[in-house]
Amino acid sequence: MIRTRALLVALVVLACSTGCGKSGSPPVKGPQPEDLPVYTVDTGFRLPDSRTWERARKRGHLVVGAKEDQPYMGEKDPASGLYSGFDIEIAKMMSASLGFDPKTIEFKTIASANRETALQNGQIDYYVGTYTINDNRKKQVGFAGPYYMAGQSLLVRKDEKDINGPDDLAGKKVCSAAGSTPYQRLQKEFPEAVLVAYDTYSVCVDNLLTYQVDAVSTDDSILLGYAAKVPDELKVVGKPFSQEPYGIGVPRSDNALRFALDDALEAQEKNGNWKKAYEATLGLSGEPAPTPPAIDRYPAS
Ligand code: GLU
Repeated sequence: MIRTRALLVALVVLACSTGCGKSGSPPVKGPQPEDLPVYTVDTGFRLPDSRTWERARKRGHLVVGAKEDQPYMGEKDPASGLYSGFDIEIAKMMSASLGFDPKTIEFKTIASANRETALQNGQIDYYVGTYTINDNRKKQVGFAGPYYMAGQSLLVRKDEKDINGPDDLAGKKVCSAAGSTPYQRLQKEFPEAVLVAYDTYSVCVDNLLTYQVDAVSTDDSILLGYAAKVPDELKVVGKPFSQEPYGIGVPRSDNALRFALDDALEAQEKNGNWKKAYEATLGLSGEPAPTPPAIDRYPAS
């Protein structure tokens, strides 16, 4: 991780000496605090039917699982320890709706492969980190949302000519995160690709920049952030080849919390906070704010 950051910083400096600030090049800056919405804390909110909420109330704040190395989505500033990005904003607006000041959230970094366990053993109250809703995962955890629709894509070096889509991956070394849906899809649908798995995508990017692998595959929302950091070195190619609806992970049995988060999402989409948060974070990638996907309030089971 430290190696990746050092490498990325070095490359950003390198890129900036030649092209930073040129019109048309993606911004390398992160979200600007003054552009972010201010979330009103619902101080009268109560949720006695939720064990998770009651536990947080006694503790005095929420503990939220997230990613720390995904620019635009969930990124931790190594100097301040503060997290930023679209997922982090979703976590904060949910906190405000649940009656907890977002400033008090304790974020915990949890890798893709460890999310279900973290929710099952009570390490976190909820999880917001590019987490795709699917039936398999629904057997282990609950999902509020979806709050965003991503799609699997490919990141390659800028000078790569042979890889333009998933059908070009035969015999190529492709890196993704263990326990992720993109990894599983490559394994199943593109078996001729030579798969390499790490805990995080930033390690994959490190491997791409140092010619250990030929491509990194995961959601476009994540890859666009890495490409924007070093636009002279990396590019996202082809069209997204899956649908990845992002949900807020909750303990499976806590239907009260799940429905409260569904309500909160709906309200924050209506009052404009969702769009404002998107524009200040993931929107920096150049994609205008989409209409958020319809919330799937599936019945308690
Ligand atoms: N959305 C995909 C997943 O949940 C990939 C991103 C990630 O690993 O967080 O598996």
